[in-house]
Amino acid sequence: MPPSASHPFLHLLFLVLLVFPGLGAFAAAVGPRRSILRALDEGNGKPDYAVDLNSSSFDNVLNESPASFAIVEFFAHWCPACRNYKPHYEKVARLFNGPNAVHPGIILMARVDCAKKMNTNLCNKFSVGHYPMLLWGPPHKFTLGGWDSKQEKSEIQSIDDGRTAERLLNWINKRIGSSFSLDDDKFENENTLPWNASDPEQIARAIYDVEEATAQAFDIIVDNKRIRKETRVAFIKFFQLLVAHHPSRRCRKGTAGILVNFDDLWPSDYSNNSREGSLSHMQDGARSFSICGKEVPRGYWIFCRGSRNETRGFSCGLWVLLHSLSVRAGDGEAQQTFITICDFIHNFFMCEECRRHFHEMCSSVSTPFETTRAFVLWLWRSHNKVNERLIKVEKELRTEDPRYPKIIWPPKQLCESCSNSTSNQSGGMMPEWNEDEVFKFLVAYYGSTIISSYKDETITSSRKDESVVDDVITSNHAVAVPVGAALAIALASCTFGALACFWRTQQKNRKYLHQLHSLKNV
Ligand SMILES: Cc1cc2nc3c(=O)[nH]c(=O)nc-3n(C[C@H](O)[C@H](O)[C@H](O)COP(=O)(O)OP(=O)(O)OC[C@H]3O[C@@H](n4cnc5c(N)ncnc54)[C@H](O)[C@@H]3O)c2cc1C
Repeated sequence: MPPSASHPFLHLLFLVLLVFPGLGAFAAAVGPRRSILRALDEGNGKPDYAVDLNSSSFDNVLNESPASFAIVEFFAHWCPACRNYKPHYEKVARLFNGPNAVHPGIILMARVDCAKKMNTNLCNKFSVGHYPMLLWGPPHKFTLGGWDSKQEKSEIQSIDDGRTAERLLNWINKRIGSSFSLDDDKFENENTLPWNASDPEQIARAIYDVEEATAQAFDIIVDNKRIRKETRVAFIKFFQLLVAHHPSRRCRKGTAGILVNFDDLWPSDYSNNSREGSLSHMQDGARSFSICGKEVPRGYWIFCRGSRNETRGFSCGLWVLLHSLSVRAGDGEAQQTFITICDFIHNFFMCEECRRHFHEMCSSVSTPFETTRAFVLWLWRSHNKVNERLIKVEKELRTEDPRYPKIIWPPKQLCESCSNSTSNQSGGMMPEWNEDEVFKFLVAYYGSTIISSYKDETITSSRKDESVVDDVITSNHAVAVPVGAALAIALASCTFGALACFWRTQQKNRKYLHQLHSLKNV
């Protein structure tokens, strides 16, 4: 029987709620936070684009938002003017919130119902004196304190002229120098996309794309039954690399979970098992693991969003993931990381031409990489070789994304000191690089800028458990991670009484020692 991840968890959840009924409220509060990128359907058939916040979800949602700005509407559900204002607010929110956002990742539009008792203190904190009242500011600034109209030099600002959708959008356009229109539509927005999504500010949001690319890669592998006898090692090694160096904490945690259960999910005789029924059962088991958490964005592509439906997306996210991994590997890990990435692309990237070209580039390396620098620069050069080829191909075939044509990268606007000459990089001319500067730039761009702000607050684990998971998933000794993680968490759990021991009992069934043995053999 393949393991079902959900059963033990549901049992545990039930027990937790039984013992700590207050956690139910906590879970409800976490709910809206997780639905940050979703449009809600209130039952009238029309989804709400603006995100409903309350005193419990307010800080979490705003702190974790990838958007540069937020607008919060304070209203009261009994206020007739507010009810009439809602369609106006929604018209603007449609542009910025939800999976079909025309301009994602720029403005988070939210609302708080001040007529609900639980929100009284929150609304008082923001000196709400009339309904509806709109405030504007960087999302996290809303969580640092309140707002008062007399306050000077606050980054939170009252929107004084947003009474209709048109006026609100005009106010926004004036405030950030954009030219959004209420008629803007997804993927027909070539002329209205406000910023070059590859600017340094945008890369900070690429964490969402990296998470989405990771989840999509896992789906593709599972759906296409790519884990076979001959590919098991490549998969395990790549996942070990992710556990150690994925920029997103929740993906590190998810990949560790998959490795811990690897032998159950894909027993060594998995590919020999010819019965279609059991294969699809195994697929279901694998699918029940959320590699980057249950709420990983799907189809959002913020940094990697093309101006057309069919451009960019997954392969862009995959490149960003690979570069992020390369700058995180230490000097001693450079060669192993190189082999792991090459093997992963070769076995699991199902674009035939891509993996063939990449394999050729991997095979042409004759000297082992002894430093992070050497490997990071190799990957950057290889990506530029792909760019160089695609500049020509896409121009000829007219398949390029007009908003994001391939260029030799990084352009001068991103890194002034990276190249010495003024060659035509967008025309495919390779400039004279200053590789020390390029390396510094890549480390900053893919290292410190892309970090996960995700803070895991599962109701099933205590702080002590969490710190054990933290220690394990930030470990650099990837080979020891999966088994070590399981054992360490289980041991720590037992100090937290019956609930934790229940969980430990579930974990015990996962045959650690067998896994220890099989993973050590990898
Ligand atoms: C391993 C691999 C091999 C591929 N091989 C092929 C192929 O042979 N043929 C094919 O048609 N497509 C190939 N692709 C897909 C192709 O490279 C692009 O990913 C796709 O066309 C989408 O392009 P994009 O404009 O989103 O930018 P991408 O090329 O995907 O780049 C994503 C982002 O990375 C940054 N970037 C660009 N160049 C570099 C660089 N040199 N170093 C670091 N960062 C950079 C930029 O910010 C860019 O927006 C491959 C993809 C991968 C992951």
